[in-house]
Amino acid sequence: MSAMTDRYDVCIVGAGISGLNALFVASQYLARDQRVALVDRRFGAGGMWLDTYDYVRLHQPHPFFTAGNIAWTLDKERVYLADKEEVLDHLRHCLEVVKRCIRVTELFGCEFESAEEEGELVRITCSSAESGPMEFEANWLIKAYGQEIKTNAPLELSSARARSVSPDQFDVRGAEMRASNAPAWIVGGGKTGMDTAHTLINKQPDRKINLIAGPGTFFLSRDRLFPSGVRRWYAGKLLSSAFREMGRRFDGTNEDDALDWFRDNYGVWLTPETGNFMGAILSESENETISAGLNEIVMDYLVDVVDRNGGAEVELRSGARMPFEPGSWIINCTGSMMRGERSYEPYVSAGGRILSIQNRSMTIPFPAGGSSAYFLTHLLFLGRLTDLPLYALDLEDLRRKAPQYVMAAALVPLQMYNLSLIAEAVPARQFMKVVSRNGLDLDGWYPFPRRLWASAGFMLTHKRDREYHRRSLDKVAERFGFRCGPVVGADRA
Ligand SMILES: Cc1cc2nc3c(=O)[nH]c(=O)nc-3n(C[C@H](O)[C@H](O)[C@H](O)COP(=O)(O)OP(=O)(O)OC[C@H]3O[C@@H](n4cnc5c(N)ncnc54)[C@H](O)[C@@H]3O)c2cc1C
Repeated sequence: MSAMTDRYDVCIVGAGISGLNALFVASQYLARDQRVALVDRRFGAGGMWLDTYDYVRLHQPHPFFTAGNIAWTLDKERVYLADKEEVLDHLRHCLEVVKRCIRVTELFGCEFESAEEEGELVRITCSSAESGPMEFEANWLIKAYGQEIKTNAPLELSSARARSVSPDQFDVRGAEMRASNAPAWIVGGGKTGMDTAHTLINKQPDRKINLIAGPGTFFLSRDRLFPSGVRRWYAGKLLSSAFREMGRRFDGTNEDDALDWFRDNYGVWLTPETGNFMGAILSESENETISAGLNEIVMDYLVDVVDRNGGAEVELRSGARMPFEPGSWIINCTGSMMRGERSYEPYVSAGGRILSIQNRSMTIPFPAGGSSAYFLTHLLFLGRLTDLPLYALDLEDLRRKAPQYVMAAALVPLQMYNLSLIAEAVPARQFMKVVSRNGLDLDGWYPFPRRLWASAGFMLTHKRDREYHRRSLDKVAERFGFRCGPVVGADRA
């Protein structure tokens, strides 16, 4: 049969952690002979991990980056931070595991183009370089674009005396970089910046390394959130409980106070101040290594490197200038999250047959990869996707309109509000099943009695807290004028 006339039960676009979670959940509801088309423009499962820099490490303990509750086959301690190849191996393994339960047709190297809802089905158009245009039908379409992260190019600079590189295209551990001991300027103080600084400091300890850190970023402290050994029984804090406390402190107007409190209790940072939080994780010892190994931390933004007076200078947004040694490296670690230019699309379509997981209609933000796909695909198959008034937040628009701290603070009540609605809507036994198979849940680090205690706390208080979270979200939306609320009526068109 040609792809022109194919009919699938479900079509999933995106084979990153979001798409694989959607696929896992679909496999829990579909029968063995039912069919899923898995479409991705990349040539295999893995999403952004296929293209990101080679020395990236998973920042959470590896068992908690998975599809559903699929276990890792890696023979390492739970605390081990998997490298790029190990992450990719696991994501491919997840696909193989699901393929044992349902029929999956892999359409890799294939671009999803459009979809039309027609009564009980969705007509889908894709294309690939190999087969040209393809049309097929599905009962449901899940667009699991997720974070849709793109790689970074080197920064464009005026001076030819700067060697401008991007970690996504240039391995800082390689021979070319090792051949020169010229200073390195890391531009960006987020996860990529920390991975790069840590790698360079360990591999090339004699090199002078400067960090241009913008407003300064804080990270979740791995030591406080994931204590090891027997300390898991009495020390540390479950992330869900830390978020509950944070959500109660944020009233829609006090993001600086609420996030500073969160940072002081659960964070780690190396800059004199912070104005950025993306949910990445760092240990105290990594932080100390980086702190001790840096030559200078610049709390500013790079504008350019220019030739002047026979030499070169770094120009900063504040107007300040710094001397620049010719031949120094400028490493673009300015981040690649939420840089999309996607047009607005609601998470659920008018007819309820299309679920769309992306940043313009964000519902369950934590952890960044996979959580929305996991919970919303359950709602789709439970028939609750269209009637549950989840709050959806336009993250891309908020990012454009408000300081980063506002965005970070607003995501916490969003998470708490939506999980509360889901907990109420899904029958208790079913909800327990959904929660217990969610391998992304970082609370899983702790022994069962501590998780039970935290769940009981949530179940007893979530309805009371919900109205407070809704008011906080409404206040932020009013202050900055971005889309945040239930997806209703015309929004779904
Ligand atoms: C440098 C870096 C490090 C990170 N480290 C961590 C970490 O350690 N732990 C963590 O939890 N998170 C981390 N993140 C966040 C990370 O982005 C997510 O965890 C996750 O991998 C994102 O998965 P995703 O499926 O949501 O998106 P993606 O991995 O971007 O997958 C989306 C897929 O959809 C496909 N797609 C989109 N549109 C179309 C179309 N029209 N047609 C066909 N295919 C399409 C894309 O090709 C892509 O493969 C990191 C992010 C970055 C940038």
